[in-house]
Formats: sequence, C-alpha cells, structure tokens
Amino acid sequence: MKLEKIYKYIDSNYQNFIKELVRLVNQPSVSAKHEGIQECAKMVEQMLKTIGFSTIFIQEKKGNPVVYGELKAKEPRKTLLFYNHYDVQPIEPFEEWICDPFSGEIRDGRIYGRGVSDNKGNIISRLKAVQAFLETTGEVPVNIKFVIEGEEEIGSPNLQPIVKKYKDLFSADAAIWEFGGTDRHGRPIIYLGLKGVLSVELEAKGASRDVHSANAPLIPNPAWRLVWTLNTLKNEKDEILIEGFYDDVETPLTEEIKCLKDIPFEEEEEKKELALKEFLHKASGLDALKALLYKPTCTINGFMSGYTGTGSKTVLPNKATAKLDFRLVPRQRPEKIFRKLVKHLKSRGFGDIHVFEHGSTEPVKTPITDKFVQTVVKTAEKIYNKKAVVYPTSAGSGPMHLFRNWLGYPIVSVGCAHAESRGHAPNENIMIDGFVQGTKFIAAVIQDFASS
Ligand SMILES: [Zn+2]
Repeated sequence: MKLEKIYKYIDSNYQNFIKELVRLVNQPSVSAKHEGIQECAKMVEQMLKTIGFSTIFIQEKKGNPVVYGELKAKEPRKTLLFYNHYDVQPIEPFEEWICDPFSGEIRDGRIYGRGVSDNKGNIISRLKAVQAFLETTGEVPVNIKFVIEGEEEIGSPNLQPIVKKYKDLFSADAAIWEFGGTDRHGRPIIYLGLKGVLSVELEAKGASRDVHSANAPLIPNPAWRLVWTLNTLKNEKDEILIEGFYDDVETPLTEEIKCLKDIPFEEEEEKKELALKEFLHKASGLDALKALLYKPTCTINGFMSGYTGTGSKTVLPNKATAKLDFRLVPRQRPEKIFRKLVKHLKSRGFGDIHVFEHGSTEPVKTPITDKFVQTVVKTAEKIYNKKAVVYPTSAGSGPMHLFRNWLGYPIVSVGCAHAESRGHAPNENIMIDGFVQGTKFIAAVIQDFASS
C-alpha cells in the first residue's frame, strides 16, 4: 500500500531524477587523471544534503574524499548501508563515442555518458528511492547510510584506513553494493561476492647498464632470468606451482552450484566476440562458469625488458620486469599468498628476484542462505516479475571485504544497468526504463528489509 504511493511518486518525478543524473554525469570525475574529483565529491555531498542527509566530507591527507551521509528513521530501526563511488574510468578511446562522453545525452530511451552506469546512475537511483519515502511518508523505514568513495576505479588504495578509522560510522545490519542490473532477458542479476586480487611486480637485474649482445656468453641476461622465474609459477595445465597456493581454497557449496545452473552464460557469443575457437582447456558450460567464478589464477599482465621498437637492436638488457596479478577465492588471503610467493622464489633458486606489492583485496562472499539475500531475491522477483539470476560470487574484485569481512554484515550487489551498458567502454549507457525500475526496486528493498 505504502509502496504504491512511492512507485507513483517515482513515476511522476523520474524526469527530474534524470536531470540530476545528467548534471552528475556532466561533472567529470576521472580518478586515474585527478580530473574533477573535488568538484564531483562536493556535488554528491550537496545532493545528499538536499534530500535531508547529514553528511561528513571525509578528506584524509592521502587520497580522494569519501562522502558519507546518514539519515535516521524516526524510531530505532535497522540500518541499511549503500556503497557507491563517484569516480569514473577515463573516456578513451574518445573517437568511438557517439556523443560527448560527459554530455549525458538521451537517445532512444537511453542516457549516454561516462559513469552513467558505473556508478552515477546507481547513486541517483538510490538517493531518489530514499527521497521517494521522505516525500510520500515523511520518513524512512530504516536508518540509511551512504558511503560514496572516489577511488574505486583505481583500486580504492586509501579506503582501508578510512574504514578502520570510521568503523562505527560505517556499521550497519546489511549493505547494498555498487553494481548490478538486468540480463538480456530482463532478469534481475544479484551478485553475492567478489574474488580477491594480489598485484605484484617482479624485477630481475643484470649488469650496471645495457651492453652489446655480443657479450651474451659472459654477461647475465635478466630477461631470460625472469622468463625462467615465471616458468616456475605455473605449468601448461594452468596449475599454480607455488607451494601451498591452494591450501585455503574453499570448494563451492552445493547450493552455489545449483545457482550456477540457472546463470545464463553466453559462451558462444563471448568466444565469437573475442574471435576464439574455444576457451582455455576447452572449458565449456557449467565447468567454464565454475572456473570463471571459483578458480584462483596467476596472470602475467605485462613484461618489459630491452628493445621493443621497430627493426632490431642487438642489445643485452640490464633489467627485466613483469607485472602479475593473482585472483583469489574464499578463504585465500593476499598477504599469505605474497609470503608464499617470496618463499617459493627463494626455494627455487630465484631469491635474487625483487618482488614488489602493488595492492590487494581479499576475496569476499555473503552466503546465499543469508536472510538479507533471501529478502533481496524475493523483492527482485516481485519487482521484475522474473526469476532472479543469483551469482554466488563474481569474477571481479573490489573493496567489499572491508565491509563484509571486517564489519561483518551481509552485502548484496544490485543496480540499474543492463546487458549492453558498456561499463568502462565507449558509449556507456543505461536505459531510462531500467533506471526507473531500478529505483522502485531499491525502494522495495528498503521497505522489505524494514519489515523482514
Ligand atoms: Zn568500474
């Protein structure tokens, strides 16, 4: 009954919501280039304030501001926290955009612009769901908190100390994470976890300077040294050879595997788009999906040494570096994997290789059986009138562990994107219909969480 009024409010005001979203998209906020960050953070804070949130502009010595907002229910109630980010990816390649990337142009029922899907559409949709409660009922049925950071797209390097420092502020009973949407068939997608990641750089050093390659019989070649090093990390079956690497890996639960069977995995389209005949090790179907979500990996991201320009240069380089990432699954710990890697290199005779860490996040997951997950799934199916697609975990990574593993509440990721939203790519967009539906969905989640 109450929700009908709220849906009506959303239906009659969505055009104003979109105007605000366009205003937010108009404000560039590219964290990788330090572009428009302060301005965007202030704009987001102002939007929270206008709705009625009390806010804190968290600006530490290091890093971009985190905008915090809080709105209390009239009576003591449960607390729902929303995690979002106002920063966006760079716009390149610019020439592939059909409109100005910061224009928020509307065409054929879609809003285009960098960040409109990831993550500004979700920020506005969530704020407006809250506003709809205030405007129609004069209150919110639960305490609402917003944490909107500005470094998600560069790996949230400064969020950890902030969560530690403000852990009381960030406490909640449950949280909604930043992303999500509907699939090609309009089914709502619900994500319950993320892989962890450990990024490292390996460096081999040779002589004090590059030398003529005629000296190869006498002078050590760090490029070869690094190739041999890398060769000890993984075999051709893709098994990672670091001792104890798989020790803590948790096997997926039966109920998770059951969920996987319902996930539409469009492997043929994926292969076609990438011009691949087959996936690695001919994986397909459920096995491919299982690998994607549950297999920890060791990936060479880049290798640099010597001369790589046009033509040839008979040089013997004096340095070689490789960047690698390890994607980790529940219960692996990045700091433990780092120690095992260093130990592995020493024990294989490569103790001379320098290892630098470039940041990490822990794997994280909220169980499907969690009450909050069940509530969100039920609400999604009611709103979209379709069976929800539940990903027990996902292949990506992010700072979710700071909230789930450290502060201990269940986290579910849902949002208003669609299958063609093109996050991080040119012509990023969301559908107006999807935005309106997504706003109603969030309002319903707030209500159903309150009464669950
Ligand atoms: Zn992103």
